[in-house]
Amino acid sequence: MKNQIWQIRKAESAISTSLLIRGGRVIDPANDFDDVADVLVVDGKIAAVKPDINFEAHYEYNAAGKIVTPGLIDMHVHLREPGQEAKEDFVSGSKAAVAGGYTTVATMPNTSPTVDNAALVRAMVKRAEDIGIVNVKIIGAVTKGQHGQELAEMRDMISAGAVAFSDDGHFDDNAKIFLNALDYLHDTGKVIICHEEETSLVKDGVMNEGKRSALLGLKGRPTVAEDIAVARDVLLAEYTGGRVHIAHISSARAVDIVRDAKKRGVNVTAEVTPQHLTMTDELVDPADASTKINPPLRTQKDCDACLTGLLDGTIDMIVTDHSPHAPEEKDREYIYAPSGFPGLETSVGVLFTELYHTGKIDLKTLIAKMTCNPAQIFGLDAGTLSIDAPADITIIDPELAWTVDAKNFYTKGSHSPFVGREFKGRVVATIVRGNLMKLNQW
Ligand SMILES: [Zn+2]
Repeated sequence: MKNQIWQIRKAESAISTSLLIRGGRVIDPANDFDDVADVLVVDGKIAAVKPDINFEAHYEYNAAGKIVTPGLIDMHVHLREPGQEAKEDFVSGSKAAVAGGYTTVATMPNTSPTVDNAALVRAMVKRAEDIGIVNVKIIGAVTKGQHGQELAEMRDMISAGAVAFSDDGHFDDNAKIFLNALDYLHDTGKVIICHEEETSLVKDGVMNEGKRSALLGLKGRPTVAEDIAVARDVLLAEYTGGRVHIAHISSARAVDIVRDAKKRGVNVTAEVTPQHLTMTDELVDPADASTKINPPLRTQKDCDACLTGLLDGTIDMIVTDHSPHAPEEKDREYIYAPSGFPGLETSVGVLFTELYHTGKIDLKTLIAKMTCNPAQIFGLDAGTLSIDAPADITIIDPELAWTVDAKNFYTKGSHSPFVGREFKGRVVATIVRGNLMKLNQW
């Protein structure tokens, strides 16, 4: 059954040049549009968005009762190429993206070897285009080998197609190197995505430092490690005028620091994950490493602060930090298991269930955080249903109830703390450049 979506896509793309999506609730925050309408796609581009379109399309999709949005964008995924294909590859990761409603994903460079030079960026861009299931963007490393010692050839990587830079997985402890990186990129408009945990404070830590870690006897990673790192990078952005993007923010104090910096006009933006919005360290079970992530799951106070920051504009976007590992790697004791879990296929379910259906966020705000906001910050030609925009579209059934089962994952990763959870709200179709991929195995 799983292969069905690809067969449909191939058959359609061979004959079809037009697609009419009928009668959905179209939410396009970039154009401040939220109404029931039809969406017409011709030759891979948006041709019209209005009620009752009269057009003989090659294919019609009945979206009555569904939500039609610009294709979702995830600026923080780990597709693990090159070198770590046992965890994930561009094909499995792209299929997971489709299943989760993502039409554009940006993959991090902490691979083997590190994506820290133009030749490798060029090869990855070509590989992404050859596979062509979704739009895969390449993020280059800030420093050579992500060792934090010497700047990587970032300008060459821009020429080769890198959309942003990050030493994700690591904090760049050397402030001078990081300042140089911001100066180096200053006139390029490119953003540095920062993993914010001061290294000496999180050494050997495996979960949030607090009551729960004390109870479990596990070494903690304190929020102050994140707060210090965010404060430093905000100050260096202010000093240099460079652009800093805070990755997977998780601490209440860090949200305050970003909010204050934005008020002063600092070039800082931020992202948060579904897990940091909705899960706490109370869920950490030493017998199950699926909750082990960096930065770790924090407290309810931190979750609440992240949600407040998301709603008031301090936090600009939601990302999954999709970080699959081979099941046998994650099947180890908590202290030895690698950090991260796959998130592409569960994020819409989590966010609709925990934030939308509970009335904590409205749909237009939620969709903006996953479409036009990342597109605008990273300069992507995506995230809108404007006429002539690439026809990347996501269709969501907001009421569809489902249970997360790792057996249905397209990702190679299987250990997720969301496995077994019941969600309401699911992606039912994903359209990339006009190609409809029906997810009809459910
Ligand atoms: Zn990270």
